[in-house]
Amino acid sequence: MLRFRLFGFPITVQPWHWLVLALLSGGLMHINNRETLAYVLMFVAAGFVSILIHELGHAFTSRRFGCQRVEIVMHGFGGVAISHNPRFTRGQHIWISIAGPAVQILAGSLVFFFFWNDLIPDIPIQSLLASFMVVSFFWALINLLPVYPLDGGQILWHALGPMQKSLTLRISMFTAVVVGLFLFLWLKEILFPIILGFMAYQNYKMLIEPTPRRPW
Ligand SMILES: [Zn+2]
Repeated sequence: MLRFRLFGFPITVQPWHWLVLALLSGGLMHINNRETLAYVLMFVAAGFVSILIHELGHAFTSRRFGCQRVEIVMHGFGGVAISHNPRFTRGQHIWISIAGPAVQILAGSLVFFFFWNDLIPDIPIQSLLASFMVVSFFWALINLLPVYPLDGGQILWHALGPMQKSLTLRISMFTAVVVGLFLFLWLKEILFPIILGFMAYQNYKMLIEPTPRRPW
């Protein structure tokens, strides 16, 4: 397990994080020479940095709203910024959730700008930055889906308020199932439909739960 501090935030990287990124690269099963190995390693490095930038977006906003203890855990499904003893208003929760995908899209757009203006002549660097751009846009957009507990789901939860828990979870389940089916049938993608299916199941369990509990 890799542990380090960045901008004062403790960061833990679980081994699953590397493996899932290598799987997502699509090249893990086809490594047969130095080029394909280099591609997978560069995809993993680019994905890691992109997801870390996303989590730092959440972490910095959390700190900005007064939470002094924020840590980041990079796990198999991506990452999470955990705020300890948070006392956020609903509006602040929404800003914190938006900040992650927003900085990630910004970082991806910056790289896109360099590509667009032909500012990256070197081939290996191009491959690295192309992976960074793909992960940044894809990850941010998936996270903005109104599926709890993704960022979009958190935004929906706090926008509608705790009284609308049932509506939020129904929207979340519906979106998870529709997008999961779309990715599976159209893009022949397996990993994300499984994750979305799991989230839909968790939402269903929360929906039929008799006693309301604080979701986070
Ligand atoms: Zn996020």
